[in-house]
Amino acid sequence: MDLSYIINELGEDRENYFNAIAPPIIQSSNFAFKTVDEMRSAFADEYSNYLYSRGVNPTVEILCKKLAALDHAEDCLVFSSGAAAIFAAVLANVKSGDHIVSVKKPYTWAQKMFNHILPRFGVTTTYIDGTDIGNFERAILPSTKVIYLESPNSWDYAIQDLKAVAELAKSENIITIIDNSYCTPIYQQPIDFGIDLALQSGTKYIGGHSDTVAGILSGSNEMIKRIFNSEFLNIGSGISPFNAWLLIRGLRTLPMRLERITKTTLQIVQYLKAHEKVEKVIFAFDESFPQYSLAKQQMRGACGLVTFIVKADTVMQIENFCNSLQHILMAVSWGGHESLIVPKCSGIPAANFNAVNAEHRMIRMYVGLEEAEYLIKDLDRGFGGMD
Ligand SMILES: *Cc1c(COP(=O)(O)O)cnc(C)c1O
Repeated sequence: MDLSYIINELGEDRENYFNAIAPPIIQSSNFAFKTVDEMRSAFADEYSNYLYSRGVNPTVEILCKKLAALDHAEDCLVFSSGAAAIFAAVLANVKSGDHIVSVKKPYTWAQKMFNHILPRFGVTTTYIDGTDIGNFERAILPSTKVIYLESPNSWDYAIQDLKAVAELAKSENIITIIDNSYCTPIYQQPIDFGIDLALQSGTKYIGGHSDTVAGILSGSNEMIKRIFNSEFLNIGSGISPFNAWLLIRGLRTLPMRLERITKTTLQIVQYLKAHEKVEKVIFAFDESFPQYSLAKQQMRGACGLVTFIVKADTVMQIENFCNSLQHILMAVSWGGHESLIVPKCSGIPAANFNAVNAEHRMIRMYVGLEEAEYLIKDLDRGFGGMD
């Protein structure tokens, strides 16, 4: 299916709504039936019928069709956050006594679920360095039911060999789940490599304007229908019709936003690599990246996020760098129109800062839609203000 068709037409049925170009926001909680028989059918199969908007809603359905096609998946569910998509995907595939193998340092709220919530129900997690397939083999137990991936990681961009992990998991009857927020299906389609469930935070590139929180989960019809009828309906974390509409609007410009961000990010990477106050730049599509060839093999692109380690002896120097910026905003999240920065030292008490630890000197930048020169001038201002 052509990308342009998916983005501009798929799932849209304009003749049903006055040939409007933009789809309607069906802001209705419930749907009426003409006969008892129709109502009975809807009760029997809520997955295929409009009954109640905690389940299926027509505006959300348009979005789902597009997102599933982008993921090369049979079906997809859209949640009110990426965290909800993570929770439903994992919860649907474990029971008491089961074991999970996860890459180390996945998204914070995935870690919190593995560390604090799942152990209360007898589900344990082993974290591994996912850059070596041997680590997966060694960590798998007879009770392992889920392998949880995040490729690339959204701080150090560590990646996993998706094809190798999927093959290993299939041979052991283990479900594979990947957080694909970094790439989006435009730059990586994990289901093509044999991964069972691909999820992403729709808050990031899909929404693209820093105005909507959402999560996306794609997989086989069978798996998605099972999750819909259980965790999805029961947790009740579906997206609102208006927010679904915002994501449809975001999708219209997704490929061109990524194209622009890709171009600017490369300029920023080159600038940072040449800067005397930068010790190291971490970016998956830079030749210095340890997994560069694997990244090139399984990803069509890399953009937006870049991490750099600054040369600093004190936490104040890093704080001065960040505080001196006038345009690049200091905020969490990414994927929107605006460039952002997060210093790792903001997550640790200033007294615990240790300049010997390179991780403490890490700064993650998200490159938005601004002009490269505009951003570079601002970074110059930051570096100038360091001492
Ligand atoms: C933001 C993010 C999430 C969570 O998504 P929310 O929409 O914020 O709940 C999950 N994974 C990664 C890599 C993220 O950056």
